[in-house]
Amino acid sequence: MAGFFHKSIEFLKGIGPEKAALINKELGYFNYGDLLQHFPFRYEDRTIFRKISSLTDGLGSAQIIGKIVRFETIGVGRKQRLIGKFQDETGEIDLIWFQGIKWIQQKIKLGLIYVVYGKPIRYGQRFSLSHPEIEPSGKTTLNKQFLHPVYHTSEKLKRSFLDSKALSKIMKLLLAGAIPHIQDKLPPAIREQFSLIDKKFSLIHIHFPKDQISLKKAQYRLKFEELFFIQLRLITLKLARIDKFKGITFKNSELLNNFYHTLLPFSLTTAQKKVIKEIYADFRSGHQMNRLVQGDVGSGKTIVAFMCMLIAVGNDTQCAFMAPTEILAEQHYHGLKEFAEPLGIKMACLTGSSKKVERISIQERLDSGELKILIGTHALIEDKVKFKKLGLAVIDEQHRFGVAQRAKLWNKNKTYYPHILVMTATPIPRTLAMTLYGDLDISTIDQLPAGRKPIITRHMRDAQRIQLFSLIEKEIEKGRQVYIVYPLIEESATMDYKDLMDGYESIARRFPQLYLSICHGKMKSADKDHEMKRFTKGETHIMIATTVIEVGVNVPNASVMVIESAERFGLSQLHQLRGRVGRGGEQSYCLLVTGMKLTLEAKIRMQTLVESNDGFRIAETDLKLRGPGDPMGTQQSGALDLIISDLATDGNILNLARNAATDLLKRDPLLRAPENQILKNHIASFNKSAVNWSKIS
Ligand code: ADP
Ligand code: MG
Repeated sequence: MAGFFHKSIEFLKGIGPEKAALINKELGYFNYGDLLQHFPFRYEDRTIFRKISSLTDGLGSAQIIGKIVRFETIGVGRKQRLIGKFQDETGEIDLIWFQGIKWIQQKIKLGLIYVVYGKPIRYGQRFSLSHPEIEPSGKTTLNKQFLHPVYHTSEKLKRSFLDSKALSKIMKLLLAGAIPHIQDKLPPAIREQFSLIDKKFSLIHIHFPKDQISLKKAQYRLKFEELFFIQLRLITLKLARIDKFKGITFKNSELLNNFYHTLLPFSLTTAQKKVIKEIYADFRSGHQMNRLVQGDVGSGKTIVAFMCMLIAVGNDTQCAFMAPTEILAEQHYHGLKEFAEPLGIKMACLTGSSKKVERISIQERLDSGELKILIGTHALIEDKVKFKKLGLAVIDEQHRFGVAQRAKLWNKNKTYYPHILVMTATPIPRTLAMTLYGDLDISTIDQLPAGRKPIITRHMRDAQRIQLFSLIEKEIEKGRQVYIVYPLIEESATMDYKDLMDGYESIARRFPQLYLSICHGKMKSADKDHEMKRFTKGETHIMIATTVIEVGVNVPNASVMVIESAERFGLSQLHQLRGRVGRGGEQSYCLLVTGMKLTLEAKIRMQTLVESNDGFRIAETDLKLRGPGDPMGTQQSGALDLIISDLATDGNILNLARNAATDLLKRDPLLRAPENQILKNHIASFNKSAVNWSKIS
């Protein structure tokens, strides 16, 4: 059975070793099973014919019936092209061929009725189709079928005659061969409960739908299946983890009470309290905690983490607090030291630039147990850093860390796993969270501290610089500080640098009396830190920087965030940047500066930010605009190789699938029932092949 789907595609009629190698390379498919999952990305309705007189710009593809009345050859050599004058009773268009001219001239008969299909392009008053599909009318195989599959292919594949139409022919053969081997992996009870059609039917109709209804049914079934198995796997892992990994039990601690009643400088928001309670419940449960705390920028995650660390320290264990950059690590260190010192808690900061003597001393104090909280960057997770008794690991701004790095933290305590608290300021839409972090518990701080004024966001064009400068000037006169951020151009560090320097110079010219800081990727990290510190201390008025300041940096006195070339940033990133201001009580501004010409998508991005300060709403829009491919603007989502589902639009199906998986596992946690064997085997085979990303963090 499995044998069929594991056969190499080179054995398929119409493919062979060379084309197989090309398909491997271009599409990543190796065997029959892979190729069968190359679903069409859209369908064309070939029952509709257009009249030539009704062609308009931007129509997409059109199907026309008519005849070629004469051929013309234009140009010579490589520029030569063949033009067929194609007429119906309403007008005439040009069919154009650049290649295979001879063959076309032999094959196509003048005066015979043909069906042509292609994308009409207008030159002046006249439309043309280049390299159209063309078949004699009547005997056409094309329009027997209602909806035609259109498959993704590539230029290279097309050059080897593997265009969408060729793929569709291959698919037809493959599908015919596959049908006897297709086994339905969803138990009948679930199929019945959710009215899902069977697997064979769904595969046939996803590739060659009989009509819209069968297509919808096929899509629904396949999406459900895909999401169901992801959820089943995640929930199984979570149950296994809860079962297997005993956690250290923490009791209430005097340390926390002490802090809460004497040192905490403000009252916690209801949301902060709720999240601390959720975490404390995990601490007491006897199971190892794996919790993600989501909270918009400025929602006050740091203090939540600190209070949890106090519980851990009060229970005689150590804590690690990992931040993504040195600047952030140091900022946390200095910020939290003010609280830790009066409580008699020893803290240290370990980063890539810590000196050797310092490292040795830190290690000694970790070994002796004297050092309670170690804050730092990646340097924390190096194997040589050892704790006496790590009880809680906090990872701030989680998306900056790779999965492997999180796994390392997890293994820092050999006798039991430390509790893990992951914090992110990139709100993840629920659907995405359920899929990315389906095996984590999720807490949300959905409230900002009282007294914050919503940031006013404006979209400005390059030409409005005078206005921009005067706003900056006014704010600085009030004693505030300003950020000006330039995009990082991945491909060209030199370009970056140039934009930034030009910006710096124009600011320096305009505001000769002000002190400026500058931060960019070419600077040594000690220099960056130095500049950042000057700004933090209020010694400089304006911080001009590339995106190094994106994450977490806290300068409450800063009230203006100018983002240059804002169209180059993703929505989430813009929202993150904006979150650097509005941290004090005064009115803050975010100014998005762009050129005049913007793509529609860029306009939507600017508009969304101008209208909303709500990170969750922004994340939803981001997901809709970009798809889940790269939700955090990082490489973390390789885990999300969804074949057919779309997390932006399939939230409902996801919910159903997740509930179905939860119910099933409630009834049969180990999938022991005979009717669930098939599920169990399927997950097992999946776990073997996939990277086990979901166990981590
Ligand atoms: P983020 O969630 O973005 O990491 P921070 O933890 O940096 O936010 O908090 C932002 C600012 O808000 C800090 O200056 C912090 O001291 C302050 N803060 C946190 N919680 C409260 C609260 N409940 N009331 C007032 N200010 C708070
Ligand atoms: Mg933070």
